[in-house]
Amino acid sequence: TQFFLARIKQHQHLNSFITVCDDLALAQAEVADKRLATADTAVLTGIPLAQKDIFCTLGSKTSCGSKMLDNFIAPYDATVIEKFNQAGAVMLGKLNMDEFAMGSSNETSYYGPVRNPWDTDCVPGGSSGGSAAAVAARLTPAATGTDTGGSIRQPAALCGITGLKPTYGRVSRYGMIAYASSLDQGGPMTRSAEDAALLMQVMAGFDPKDSTSVQQSVPDYSAGLNDSLKGLKIGLPKEFFSDELDSAIATEIQAAVAEYEKMGAEIKEVSMPNLKLAIPAYYVIASAECSSNLSRYDGVRFGYRCQNPQDLADLYTRSRGEAFGSEVKRRILMGTYALSAGYYDAYYLKAQQVRRLISDDFKRALSEVDVLMGPVSPSTAFRIGEKTDDPIQMYLEDIYTIAINLAGLPAMSIPAGFVDGKPVGLQVIGNYFSEAKLLNIGHRYQ
Ligand code: GLN
Repeated sequence: TQFFLARIKQHQHLNSFITVCDDLALAQAEVADKRLATADTAVLTGIPLAQKDIFCTLGSKTSCGSKMLDNFIAPYDATVIEKFNQAGAVMLGKLNMDEFAMGSSNETSYYGPVRNPWDTDCVPGGSSGGSAAAVAARLTPAATGTDTGGSIRQPAALCGITGLKPTYGRVSRYGMIAYASSLDQGGPMTRSAEDAALLMQVMAGFDPKDSTSVQQSVPDYSAGLNDSLKGLKIGLPKEFFSDELDSAIATEIQAAVAEYEKMGAEIKEVSMPNLKLAIPAYYVIASAECSSNLSRYDGVRFGYRCQNPQDLADLYTRSRGEAFGSEVKRRILMGTYALSAGYYDAYYLKAQQVRRLISDDFKRALSEVDVLMGPVSPSTAFRIGEKTDDPIQMYLEDIYTIAINLAGLPAMSIPAGFVDGKPVGLQVIGNYFSEAKLLNIGHRYQ
């Protein structure tokens, strides 16, 4: 713990932490030391971790990357945090992120952009950019992230680490600040698939406090890491290898797939014709849900409150106007519009129908093969500021990740080489609850 706290101090220029919890971490480490002297230990006892600042942590600031929650001290622990505490893990601090997890570059954070350790002029990806940068720079052995449309996988790819977005409902969302509730899912961001398995073991499981949490037993995620991949059927969706994809990235992905072929896997091309509708459907659904979720920030109960409000309307208007950043406001406006009377059927309902078509594409493809493979992101890490003026370009960052959230499937980003010195991620998508298989596939490659 002391080693990592010192490293965090030496690497402040990366801006990956919003809060460093020195005192808490050292106290937890001391308790872990005592526990380690007894038989009462778990795999993560004494292991330092860092948490995305979207998870409520009792007694310490939980900002969600926003001015709105800059003064918010969570009065309870998220289920994921409670589980890590029970396992005896140590919390080094809270990690930087895009404001309310809306973004693909960590540039919408109230606390400023995070820098990519591989090239500090570049973004780490987002929204879990602090998590990816901190793990890549070895400021923490592992971290948590959340993924609504790609926020675990894309930053993992851009920083050269492993990121697993579990099946929707596998990891409790209780105490994880809501962005788009039908899509949000927490997961591990680690150096290896082996470490991801250890974190998943603690994070996964039914939680009565989350109504969408699934009542299904948790397998041993480490048991099958070395299983043979002979006969594994891999599907390559041809829509994943279209013109938007940088050709050098495509070469790296093909090389990674060839490695699996050498291990005995069979490769097959599949087609998912509705994939192109994922981005528009996602931005209607995610914005609609966020406009509803974020209505709780009213300046009354908690979070930011404007100075000297004239009346209630002024209190609402100025508190929200002063504390939300421009990307969050854009999403709230789009979502409110899509949900408004007279437009609901044309936008929200239509987007939900498209969502079903996309799920059906995956269902069909995954009935022919065991997993799908493709890129995580159409480009490697781009320069800070390069896409901030062009929201459409920024939204296209998630062209290969978003459909998976709409379908609720699990998917993983595995480090798969470099283009011009910047990391590339291979995406592996599995059927519902196939996390153990994905980890096996990731482990065999590493
Ligand atoms: N970049 C996407 C968005 O801005 C996804 C973010 C996420 O997964 N939290 O909505």
